[in-house]
Amino acid sequence: MTERASVSIVIPVYNERDNIAALLERTMRAARALGRPWELVLVDDGSRDGSTDLLAQAARDHAGEVKALLLNRNYGQHNAILCGFGAAQGDILVTLDADLQNPPEEIGALVAKIDEGFDVVGSVRQDRQDALFRKVFSGLINLMVRKSTGVTLHDYGCMLRAYRRRVVDAMLSCRERHTFIPVLANLFAKRVCEIPVGHAERAKGDSKYSVLKLVNLQFDLLTCMTTAPLRMLSWIGAAISALSIGFGALLLALRFVYGPEWAEHGVFTLFAVAFFFIGAQFIALGLMGEYIGRIHADVRERPRYIVDRVVGETLGDRPGARSTVTIPN
Ligand code: UDP
Ligand code: MG
Repeated sequence: MTERASVSIVIPVYNERDNIAALLERTMRAARALGRPWELVLVDDGSRDGSTDLLAQAARDHAGEVKALLLNRNYGQHNAILCGFGAAQGDILVTLDADLQNPPEEIGALVAKIDEGFDVVGSVRQDRQDALFRKVFSGLINLMVRKSTGVTLHDYGCMLRAYRRRVVDAMLSCRERHTFIPVLANLFAKRVCEIPVGHAERAKGDSKYSVLKLVNLQFDLLTCMTTAPLRMLSWIGAAISALSIGFGALLLALRFVYGPEWAEHGVFTLFAVAFFFIGAQFIALGLMGEYIGRIHADVRERPRYIVDRVVGETLGDRPGARSTVTIPN
């Protein structure tokens, strides 16, 4: 990557009217301090509080530096960011929240890490200024993601992040509707790191995530990452069936020792038989889950791989005939 790789800053905005002036001021100051080409891509995610007009005005006032993409309705933070990625031109893409919880002054530090050669730079919120239940919940989620992806990042919820162009291109070529960007990025990144960043209280307004929206987001995260819960059904079923066979054998043995009275004339045996079939049903569900998991993977149409570079020319290759970075469908 060249010394002066360009930077696109992508910000999703949903009903953030009172934050926009300060956001623009601080973000543009931080962008100018980078000393390299930059652009600001603002995505209005269907705001209804007048943010839309403010963003459009900002794009007119700062033509050549600011672009506003106005969505017709609310599609959610992650979709809004993907929309911004699609329109952004930079070699390095940075995302942050519009409510100034992520200090724009940290952008330089993220970009510096990409310059060092990292594909994705995450950030860990120091002294996080959110409600206790959000922090506890996040802690659990981060632990789960670490365990299931094996990628030891500590703060998947923080959207102050930077990505190299090719990782973003790979994410854009995924066709899934429900996604969680930090997890998706890890699939296509070789070198990932995270840096500590400051965290402030939301400058104005309230969080745009209701409890229901948060729960939905966690399901997006889970299903974007793994189909393991479907497979677990089979394991649970196998365990129930195995235990019921043991239970049946125990009943039979005790019946000979204590006689039919003790066994309540077969009621317990019935339990053992019932458990066996309950287990079998779980196994069948799990088996269906395996198929559904594969259908799920196929409909997402994620790219299978990213070719970093092609070295050497052979028959039929004309110079410049093909980009060296290819992202097959
Ligand atoms: N946001 C969005 N669409 C949504 C919800 C949120 O674009 O449907 C934006 C919001 O404007 C902000 C960022 O995503 O820039 C993070 O939202 P918020 O600060 O409400 O989330 P929290 O900090 O409570 O997790
Ligand atoms: Mg926030």
